[in-house]
Amino acid sequence: MSTHDAARGFDSLAVHAGQTPDETTGAVIPPLHVSTTYAQDGIGGLRGGYEYGRSGNPTRTALESQVAALEGAVRALSFASGLAGEDALLRAALVPGDEVLMGNDVYGGTYRLLARVLGPWGITLRVVDMSDLDAVAAAIEQRAPRMVWVETPSNPMLRITDIAGLARLGHAAGAIVVVDNTFASPALQRPIALGADVVVHSATKYLGGHSDVVGGALAFADADLAEKTQFLQFAAGAVSGPFDAYLTTRGIKTLGIRMQRHSSNAQAVAEYLAGHDRVATVYYPGLPAHPGHELAATQMSGFGGIVSLALADGATARRFAESTRLFTLAESLGGVESLVNYPDAMTHASVRGTELAVPDTIVRLSVGIESVDDLVADVDQALASL
Ligand SMILES: *Cc1c(COP(=O)(O)O)cnc(C)c1O
Repeated sequence: MSTHDAARGFDSLAVHAGQTPDETTGAVIPPLHVSTTYAQDGIGGLRGGYEYGRSGNPTRTALESQVAALEGAVRALSFASGLAGEDALLRAALVPGDEVLMGNDVYGGTYRLLARVLGPWGITLRVVDMSDLDAVAAAIEQRAPRMVWVETPSNPMLRITDIAGLARLGHAAGAIVVVDNTFASPALQRPIALGADVVVHSATKYLGGHSDVVGGALAFADADLAEKTQFLQFAAGAVSGPFDAYLTTRGIKTLGIRMQRHSSNAQAVAEYLAGHDRVATVYYPGLPAHPGHELAATQMSGFGGIVSLALADGATARRFAESTRLFTLAESLGGVESLVNYPDAMTHASVRGTELAVPDTIVRLSVGIESVDDLVADVDQALASL
C-alpha cells in the first residue's frame, strides 16, 4: 500500500504507509538500508533516485511517507532530532529581519534555539499566550510576524489553542503557521486539516514511543516550503540515521492504540489528582474544569498522556517528584513507561527567569501504558509521603 491510499483509516495508514513489501525478496517488513552509497548504472544512472546517504536513504523515505500519510501532508522530512528539524525549518523559511510570534509555554529548547542561536543571526522573537486569540490578534496587528509557532496542548501547562482560528489570523497577516504536534501526535490531532502550514514533531516522544530513539519530523501542507527545507536537510545534513528511522517507523505502527491507552490512563490519573486535597491544581484538557476542555474535545480525538499538577510550594513539588516509584524521575515524555519531571529544574531549566519560566510548584507526568491501578496507587503513595 502506498501513501496514495489516503482514504484508508488512520491505523491502516500507520501500519502500511511507506511499508510496501520488498520487491526482490517479498519481505513484509522492508529491509533496514544501512548503505551510505548506491551503485550507478553508468554515470548518473541512479536506481530509484538514491545516490548518497545524506541526500536520501530508503529507510528514511519509508518513515517520511508514513509521517506524511498520518499528518495528511504533501510531504514529510525526517531529522536527527526534533530540534534539528526545527532548525532546518526556521532557516529554510526565514531570513534575517523576520520575526517569529511564539506561544508562551513552548518547549524550552525551541525557545532557546530561537533566542540564543537564531536571534544573533537576526531573527526576532515575540511571545504571546496563543490560547488567547484576542491577544494573538493584537500582537499581529501591532506588527505582522513572518511565522506563528504554537504548541497545543502546550508544555507543560497543557494550554489549548484553536488551531483553525490561529491559522486564519496568521494567514491574514501573510505568516507561515507552524504547529508543534508532539504532545497530541497525529493519532489525536491533525493540524494541517485545521489550516496549519507545517507540523513539527519530536519523534523522540510519542512517534517513536519507546524512549529508545532521538528523532524529529516535519510535515508540510505546501510543496514549495517542503522543497526548501529538504534542500537544507540535504545541504546541512541533520538527517535521521537508518536505524533511528527504522525504530521510529516501528513505533508509529502502534501509535493509535498507544495514544488511546495513554489518554485513558492520563484521564484516570488526572481525575484522581483532582480529587486529592494535597493537589492545588490539575492541568489536563480531559477534565471538564480545564479552560481548554471544550475546544480540545472538538479539535482532538483524545486528550493525550500528559498531566501537570501544582502542589502547595516548590519544596513540596520537588518532594513529590522524588517520591514516585513506578513513575521514573526523568526528562522526556511519550514513551510506554510513565515518567515524572520537575520542569523548573529539569526540562525547562533553560527558560528559568525568562517570560517562559514554569512556576516552581509544577510537576509534569508523562502517563504511560502500564496498568492504570498501579499508576493511581503510585501517585497516591507519593502524595501520602509528603
Ligand atoms: C522534546 C520536544 C522537542 C525537541 O525535540 P528533540 O527530539 O528533543 O530535539 C520539541 N517540541 C516538543 C513539544 C518536545 O517535547
